[in-house]
Amino acid sequence: MKNSDFRMIKIRELQVYAFHGVYEEETAKGQNFFINADICLDSKRTDVLSDDLDATVNYAEACEFMSDYMKQNTCKLIERAAELLCREMLLKYPLITKITIELRKPEAPIGLPFESVSVVRSLSWHTAILSIGSNMGDKHEFLDRALSKLDDKPHTRLICESERFVTKPYGGVEQDDFVNSAVIIETMLSPYELLDFLHVIEKSEGRERLIHWGPRTLDLDIVFYDDLVMSESNLTIPHIDMQNRYFVLKPMSKIAGYYRHPLLGKTVSELLRELEEKESDES
Ligand code: ATP
Ligand code: CA
Ligand code: CA
Repeated sequence: MKNSDFRMIKIRELQVYAFHGVYEEETAKGQNFFINADICLDSKRTDVLSDDLDATVNYAEACEFMSDYMKQNTCKLIERAAELLCREMLLKYPLITKITIELRKPEAPIGLPFESVSVVRSLSWHTAILSIGSNMGDKHEFLDRALSKLDDKPHTRLICESERFVTKPYGGVEQDDFVNSAVIIETMLSPYELLDFLHVIEKSEGRERLIHWGPRTLDLDIVFYDDLVMSESNLTIPHIDMQNRYFVLKPMSKIAGYYRHPLLGKTVSELLRELEEKESDES
């Protein structure tokens, strides 16, 4: 069940004189911007009865931080300024799970009477579970490097890795055994951005796609992304075949056995048990 308890801090019409804009005059002379922010705090990690400033986000400090950031950086578009502001806030305050920022520019050079123009951006941390594997060269070394790359950028943090399992290849191609594990990450990337990020890591570790289900230095698959369900031509979440794969379910059961498949309605541990029963019936 989803946790619906939350604490939100709302900041309204924080005024900042800054230098964002497409026109030279805007970046030279500056103008007033107004920030509206909805800041959601992690209710699991917040002591809601606490009277201590450390148990929350200090809104005076957050206002100063956003104001300084807006003044010290220059973007052509308020879209970009809002995006960067969301990212910086999520990175600066670990208690924030989600932030929505409206950036208003009432003096924008529009040349017609208007009241205000603004953009709204919402950004949050997501939890994803990846299945990772290697069956070429120094397999553990490939997995180690994948983990450090997954944790290398501010937009994504590695939470934990399961133990590793040596597994037989899947899909009928004659090849070396695999080393597989599962990892939990938190990321502010969207599913497609995450897939691109994984592809960059695979490529940097020499992954080539020569034979389907063939040998690989590194394979990084998204199994779950929160409880998202999506199916498009080049991205399906949850991973389309995870329920049939021992090498995915076994490591995952060690760190996320409780995780419920949003379509099948069963936990990872239940899916693993079913698969094991099916395989023992067949042999
Ligand atoms: P499989 O996806 O059956 O495990 P594979 O991992 O060997 O096979 P790849 O060549 O690594 O296949 O990936 C092929 C494409 O699968 C990727 O380019 C990607 O667009 C697509 N894809 C679809 N859903 C996912 C997902 N959940 N995670 C990773 N890739 C996915
Ligand atoms: Ca795969
Ligand atoms: Ca893959």
